[in-house]
Amino acid sequence: MSSLLIKNGTIVTASDRYAGDVYIEDETVATIGTHLELSADRVIDAQGCYLFPGGIDAHTHMELPFMGTFASDTFESGTLAGLHGGTTCIIDFAIQTQGDSLAAALDSWHQKADGHAVGDYAFHCAVTDFNDDTRKEIPDIINDHGINSFKVFMAYKGFLMVDDRQIFELMQELVKHGGILTSHCENGDMIDHMVKTFVDDGKVEPRYHVLSRPPICEAEASGRVIDLAWQTGCPNYIVHMTCEEALERVRKATLRNQKVHVETCIQYLLLDDSLYFQDGFEGAKIVMSPPLRKKKDQEALWAGINQNLIHHVATDHCPFCMNQKEMGIDNFAKIPNGAPGIENRMELLYSEGVAKGRISLNKFVEISSTGAAKIFGLFPRKGTITAGADADIIIFDPEVKHTISADSHHMMVDYNAYEGWEVQGKTRTTILRGTVAVDEGVAHVGEGFGKYLKRPPFTPHF
Ligand SMILES: [Zn+2]
Repeated sequence: MSSLLIKNGTIVTASDRYAGDVYIEDETVATIGTHLELSADRVIDAQGCYLFPGGIDAHTHMELPFMGTFASDTFESGTLAGLHGGTTCIIDFAIQTQGDSLAAALDSWHQKADGHAVGDYAFHCAVTDFNDDTRKEIPDIINDHGINSFKVFMAYKGFLMVDDRQIFELMQELVKHGGILTSHCENGDMIDHMVKTFVDDGKVEPRYHVLSRPPICEAEASGRVIDLAWQTGCPNYIVHMTCEEALERVRKATLRNQKVHVETCIQYLLLDDSLYFQDGFEGAKIVMSPPLRKKKDQEALWAGINQNLIHHVATDHCPFCMNQKEMGIDNFAKIPNGAPGIENRMELLYSEGVAKGRISLNKFVEISSTGAAKIFGLFPRKGTITAGADADIIIFDPEVKHTISADSHHMMVDYNAYEGWEVQGKTRTTILRGTVAVDEGVAHVGEGFGKYLKRPPFTPHF
């Protein structure tokens, strides 16, 4: 048995903050106490640092086949970049190809990840073609594959989008078997029409991406899926919410005591749509769906976090290099949608959130780790620091300043949307299941270290 003792740190969970030592045996936290006098194979002094639960990013797309190319991070490179920034666990999306089975999608994603991921990983199952055959697969996906979350796209008409009847019937099935529905909320028909109109008019620069996807499209679809969830009683989670109008639909639902789980992503808190209006093709870097919004939406999202309307800040990490983005140089609709973020999420959220006084330390832990762990059935194995939990711990130095750059990041992509940003606070050491995975910027684990995580049905969603 191997042992590791972390001394003199300040332990922070979603609810507590106290000085303590953490004693780890093999992969799990064995004991927490003050002034622990235990001999260990290795002792780390965390004086002056916070100990946070390892970050969970519940929304990533490693090696995603999309719009004629592939997202540039593999499960190996993407999860390793995550570990550098303090994210120890991801939930990626296994996406059904229309006409194929859900099981085929899972096989394909397991092939990409198993034996390759460096960090721990789980899958959401994205249902793009719900029919009688798909319906029959649901119990197996939940009980055998250990997947309790199912995603639908209300946009990307023609290859990912499903209609309301499919969503409604899928929800009814999930209620029976203990699943949760997650949804990309944008009105795909409206957008499809607006995109076509711009392109037909020769309006093809990146700025038309945002102009073709106004907030009302997202608000309408968010309200619609909330109503479908209300009618069916299906637990639900809205991915990557970006704007005040959509958040208002959530707030309204709380008035009838409906629980709606909401995710936003770090870029929607920090970047705004003026970036689409830069000269040339620069705006392509942040072409993603939904698009970046206004500064007032950023304020609404920060407020939504503190009002407990938003439960998780993910990334939608889906990087494409500039030569891939250039597939859309003559037509914004052909720019692969997505941007990198997994490595920078935790540090940006601390720097812009905690250090700037927008959120508390406990809230930081809740939205970067605990909330997602609870919603998706990983808690308390993941998402907190407690005896018996996986020893996924980051040692975070709040005093260290550093500058983000594509020259030094570990993501396999040739730009960074936060190039030149100065960040307050840095992940010094990342511990995954009791092993020092990254220390002072040096990786000590490699390909295949990550484990697949099964998640149980009927999770007690918080
Ligand atoms: Zn996504």
